[in-house]
Amino acid sequence: MTQIAFIGLGHMGLPMARNLLRAGFTLKVFDLVQAAMDELTKEGAHAADSAADAVQDADVVISMLPASRHVEGLYLGDSLGNHGLFKILKPGTLILECSTIAPESARKVHKAAAEHGLELLDAPVSGGTAGAAAGTLTFMIGGQASTLEKARPLFAVMGSNIFHAGPDGAGQVAKVCNNQVLAVQMIATAEAMALGVANGLEPAVLAEIMRQSSGGNWTLEKYNPWPGVMENAPASRDYSGGFMAELMAKDLGLAQEAAQHSGNSTPMGALALQLYRLLLKQGKGKQDFSVVQQLFVE
Ligand code: NAD
Repeated sequence: MTQIAFIGLGHMGLPMARNLLRAGFTLKVFDLVQAAMDELTKEGAHAADSAADAVQDADVVISMLPASRHVEGLYLGDSLGNHGLFKILKPGTLILECSTIAPESARKVHKAAAEHGLELLDAPVSGGTAGAAAGTLTFMIGGQASTLEKARPLFAVMGSNIFHAGPDGAGQVAKVCNNQVLAVQMIATAEAMALGVANGLEPAVLAEIMRQSSGGNWTLEKYNPWPGVMENAPASRDYSGGFMAELMAKDLGLAQEAAQHSGNSTPMGALALQLYRLLLKQGKGKQDFSVVQQLFVE
């Protein structure tokens, strides 16, 4: 029986872990927030006292943390005295690192994992909280193809599209490119919704026309930023849940770093980052990223 340690039970990690539990895997879970663990112990998971406790006897470790510093702290250790899990994992342990982090950080963690005889994949996801709950996430995977084949049955429980993006860190490169497109589409949709409504259109009518026309995009299909247009979108619950604006700002920053590294011109991504920073300054960083709608309405 595969023993899985799942670390990081936030908006995404919790529903991903739940799908593994429902598929019959044995899970030991850890999050800094006790309430998140309580949700899953009700459904049969074992709660750990620490990340180190969670990985005792683990064959597989899955992490879903906010950013690079959390991932490096977890696996490599930090200045707070945490030793890092790589020192205690048994050789051959499979690690699926699903957070969105800097490609450079992913490569650093890959290198350290290999030095400890561990098999790691960087496997960021797309599909939002709805995709996490439905088990239909897209995984963008960096690392060895042979490791991906070992992990495929686990990815298949949590997602429906499993892409091998390339070598170590490639999953993260794909992810930052994708999220730059997503941010630009969200901003463009929010701007157009505000323009149409200010000029007398019903929001739902405009949304449907654009969705079925050449302006159609993922945000119009699944995640309209105008409150009330889509019952299940974060905009219709005061921009709660979903994907926090501060995480989108992080991803846009990672895209800019990658562009700096390769010398690419990314003006749309740069502007999107500036608009998300503005939202953060307005205290909206914890709200869903579709809250960018509010920049365009009075
Ligand atoms: P979140 O902030 O809701 O969850 C992160 C969780 O990690 C929190 O519960 C936090 O308590 C926990 N955590 C932080 N440090 C920890 C540690 N050292 N040990 C144990 N737990 C720790 O974030 P999220 O929305 O679930 O996103 C997670 C990752 O997935 C991010 O990298 C994000 O960019 C990415 N992502 C999010 C979405 C989305 O729609 N929310 C979509 C795709 C990718």
